Amino acid sequence: MTPSATSTLPPPARSPQPLTDGRRGGLEQGLVLTFVVVPLLALAAAVPLAWGWGLSVTDIAIAAAFYVVSGLGVTAGFHRYFTHGSFKANRLLRIALAIAGSLALQGSVTSWVADHRRHHAYSDKAGDPHSPWAFGTGPRALARGMWHAHVGWLFDRDRTNAARFAPDLLADRDIVRVDRAFLPLAVASLALPGVIGGLVTWSLTGALTALFWGGLVRVALLHHVTWSINSICHMWGDRPFAARDRSVNVWWLAIVSFGESWHNLHHADPTCARHGVKRGQVDLSALLIRGFEKLGWATAVRWPTPRRLERLGVQASTRSTAGRTETVTDPEASGSPSA
Ligand SMILES: [Zn+2]
Ligand SMILES: [Zn+2]
Repeated sequence: MTPSATSTLPPPARSPQPLTDGRRGGLEQGLVLTFVVVPLLALAAAVPLAWGWGLSVTDIAIAAAFYVVSGLGVTAGFHRYFTHGSFKANRLLRIALAIAGSLALQGSVTSWVADHRRHHAYSDKAGDPHSPWAFGTGPRALARGMWHAHVGWLFDRDRTNAARFAPDLLADRDIVRVDRAFLPLAVASLALPGVIGGLVTWSLTGALTALFWGGLVRVALLHHVTWSINSICHMWGDRPFAARDRSVNVWWLAIVSFGESWHNLHHADPTCARHGVKRGQVDLSALLIRGFEKLGWATAVRWPTPRRLERLGVQASTRSTAGRTETVTDPEASGSPSA
């Protein structure tokens, strides 16, 4: 089925959008290259060039640690816990998750949650803050939409109304405090890698390289991964579940995004604590939540159950269900990683 050919997003409607719209052509694939792969290749090329004088094992270890803490702060914290309530957290964990997510420099917890709840309320329809389909379906419109969904939307002047989309967080004094501390937390997130690098190597060079790789490069990398969930994961991938939008599962982003790229399942079942629900679908955020649960810090975790999954159409590949023809005819393209 072909998507709507209008130049703007369709108005919010109750009827589900078509689930599949065929495979994208070469031009669109080229866009992924431009937005994601080329900058990453440039970065990868910089690593051997800098090795030995501008990059060390210490820098990599510091960058990795900050990537994991701030990344999981966003995925398990801002997203699965604060936005969707896929589990309950004790007070300390709640505050820790809000702080960890703030270190990703993606806005304060309340503004992040408000934007993301709005995304789910209007996904790929008018009102969605970052749909790649916002300008239509032609190659030029998609190029513009891809840029808009990836990063351009951040420059929109309209701010999502937190009073409407995140009143629960505005009413929480702990969260309001973390919200107010966003700027110092952001500065700390950039500066701390430098401080640690300086202390470990006891040198100014060590401080500067750790600041560069663990602060700047790590934040930029995590930004692109998070933005890819908004752009790529609404464009090119597999659509095994019955979501009311164009969300897709993208296996090759699963590890770096801590499981967030199983985005089609997420839109089909937003409160589910695990997004990679099928065998082989690695979901590190779910693993962390399982750890919190074992420690007793997280309770009432909304884990996928066979019944819950069946309702979402996980079994669709073996059944003929009206309206999901592509899923039925192409069982291998059902979101499983090929590796
Ligand atoms: Zn989405
Ligand atoms: Zn979500």
